[in-house]
Amino acid sequence: MRNVVLMGPPGSGKGTQASRLSESFGLEHVSTGEILRAAVRGHSELGLKVESILAAGELVPDDLMMVLIRETLATVSVGGAGWLLDGFPRTKPQAEGLVEVLEDLGIEAPTVVEIVVPDEEIVERLSGRLTCDKASHVTAKGDAKEGDPCPECDGALYIRADDTPETVRNRLNVFRAKTEPAKAELARNWPVVQVNGLGRPADVTQRIAGVLEAEH
Ligand code: ADP
Repeated sequence: MRNVVLMGPPGSGKGTQASRLSESFGLEHVSTGEILRAAVRGHSELGLKVESILAAGELVPDDLMMVLIRETLATVSVGGAGWLLDGFPRTKPQAEGLVEVLEDLGIEAPTVVEIVVPDEEIVERLSGRLTCDKASHVTAKGDAKEGDPCPECDGALYIRADDTPETVRNRLNVFRAKTEPAKAELARNWPVVQVNGLGRPADVTQRIAGVLEAEH
């Protein structure tokens, strides 16, 4: 099995890269943001609990996230080529929890890749970007408008409630305060490989694919 943890700030292209890489390596794409948004859309018990948290760009409490990730990883670790985790861990306790869950499941160290992008570039990329309501494909704001069909599937494009400039800034602050320590915690346990996130998406995919191939 090949298991990957993809880290990087909001707007680093993490979701896009996660979709492409999981497809080309045949990995199960586990996006915690996508699982949570699907729960909100489906008005499930979890969805009702997390809707306002997501809209404010805050983090869902660690205990809820740990239940979700333990269940999900137990399922996707049976058979299959492996998984790619996108959006988790986001806090130090989640990082500690992840190390523990993998130990419990008898899974060896995953490959941890961090996509590195400067802040100014992130605010520019995220403010007003368009996301599809079916599979979270992302389209640049210059290329389409709200309500247009998704170029990649039969979904429709909308602006995520947490992609407004104020919420973007809040998400970046949350990232600095909470997710940097999560990365440090992973680095204490496993090697973390940094990859430059600037340039064309296809180039970034190539860089990360090179890292994954070198690991196996
Ligand atoms: P982005 O990486 O662009 O911020 P995601 O789709 O990964 O977007 O996450 C969207 C939102 O879902 C986050 O802002 C947060 O509210 C919630 N979320 C996702 N993953 C986690 C997590 N591991 N812990 C807590 N909240 C999470």
